[in-house]
Amino acid sequence: MQAVGETQWFRRSEVGDGISMVEEPYVDPLLAANIWHVRGRDRDLVVDSGLGIVSLRTQLPWLFEHDPVVVLTHAHLDHMGGASEFADCRVHAAEAAEVRRPGAVSLHGTALLEILGLDAGDEPVPDLLLEALPRDGYDPAAYALHGAPEVTELADGDVVDLGDRRLRVLHLPGHTPGSINLYDADAGQLFTGDVLYDDGLIDTCIGSDVDAYVASMRLLLDLPVERAFPGHGRVLDGGDVRRVAAGYLRSRGADPESRRPRP
Ligand SMILES: [Zn+2]
Repeated sequence: MQAVGETQWFRRSEVGDGISMVEEPYVDPLLAANIWHVRGRDRDLVVDSGLGIVSLRTQLPWLFEHDPVVVLTHAHLDHMGGASEFADCRVHAAEAAEVRRPGAVSLHGTALLEILGLDAGDEPVPDLLLEALPRDGYDPAAYALHGAPEVTELADGDVVDLGDRRLRVLHLPGHTPGSINLYDADAGQLFTGDVLYDDGLIDTCIGSDVDAYVASMRLLLDLPVERAFPGHGRVLDGGDVRRVAAGYLRSRGADPESRRPRP
């Protein structure tokens, strides 16, 4: 397999309003997650931290220049791999233990699905979830997560304050027990992690809870959102968010219109 070099591992794109997206383009789409960087007046926010295959601090030093707080939307490997590189790391209390002491992980398709408790069905699963190596001699079998022992526990309603932006923690379980979103009500901006993106949503892994997911989607359906920054895929607008949320509810036999029961 080709080695691209660590300097090529990440790709950054500006998406406006002081927000940029960092991707790992050589990771298989099944496992490639977004890292979001939000410029704040007093400090920066980083949402999720990639796989941890290549050091963020070494390759993206600008990410660390303005006293960043990293908030993990949940403790899956593709969102928390780089967490230990940040001095201030926060995650919902329900998943803090997994961030402090991560369990088994793998970059190999079949092994990873087994660890996550997922059934691939008839879909072929790539043996290795990388499309290139970060350097010659990199051994994907040696991939492991480094825990972030000093992680701070978050709860629903907590606020991450950047000075000129305040983002509220929304606890939205379903994909995992401690899945959270960060919501900037003034800007109508929402960081959704794996709770909501425009592709097949996952509610069948270990720790998933369909009833909780339905309740979380009902909440998102009513939330004033102009732009959403998901854990996977492109930036969404408010219409996308409502379409995806309503589609999920229908797929699970819940009526999107019945969210405000009238007497
Ligand atoms: Zn996930």
